[in-house]
Amino acid sequence: MKKVRQKIKPYFVSFLSVIFVILCITADGISTNPSFQKPKGVIVLDPGHGGNDTGAQSSDGILEKAVTLNIARLIADKLNEDYKVVLTRTDDYWLDIPKRTALANYLQADLFISLHTGGSFLHSVGGTSIFYYEKSPESALQEQTPTLDSLTGEDAPFMSWNHIQDRYLTSSKKLAEHMQAQIIKITQDPDSNIKSAPLSVLQGADMPAILIELGYLTNPNEGKALGNPEFLSLLAEAISKGIGSFLSKKGQ
Ligand SMILES: [Zn+2]
Repeated sequence: MKKVRQKIKPYFVSFLSVIFVILCITADGISTNPSFQKPKGVIVLDPGHGGNDTGAQSSDGILEKAVTLNIARLIADKLNEDYKVVLTRTDDYWLDIPKRTALANYLQADLFISLHTGGSFLHSVGGTSIFYYEKSPESALQEQTPTLDSLTGEDAPFMSWNHIQDRYLTSSKKLAEHMQAQIIKITQDPDSNIKSAPLSVLQGADMPAILIELGYLTNPNEGKALGNPEFLSLLAEAISKGIGSFLSKKGQ
């Protein structure tokens, strides 16, 4: 019996250590409730595209899905001390659009930032753009007209969740302004602009949310810059400062 116990003991100890490791991982992971929030807040970064969806491509073969993941990792590194930063995708795989905002909502994130680059058939097109969500005039009009679906009641919760970002129009716009002020310092881009659009990746976010188009991969100069780790690091620094600046002035 003693011999059996001695044999079992090491297995039992290693079983316990496995459980301990799992507990440690989940304590800081996304599968637990959001009680792990750091005092300064939770930021969800969404590297656009992934997997078979490569996004735009530069003439040197640099892919949008790689640029967005690279910069998201750099931003996370810069903010990790003060904030809990979570990436919607951490590697090269596709993730459904609704799942991206669903993660941010689950974590009760303070901010949701989707990262993209531009792409155009015209090589001369370039510049950074920052988008916040605003529904199209047509969809606003449609919502004002009662339909059979909207009268059944069953669809009502879905409708309100679908347009939850409407509530954050002012704060998302403010976040875009903070972000642009920092990004311009790095890009010196006079054509950098803030736009509103009915973007599906933002519409379900239950917090201030923006989409940053970091520049055009198809523009020769910008494509080169976005493939340069030093430039990406500067851009990541600017985005981190934009986040810090917005959150520090929140509620003022
Ligand atoms: Zn994109």
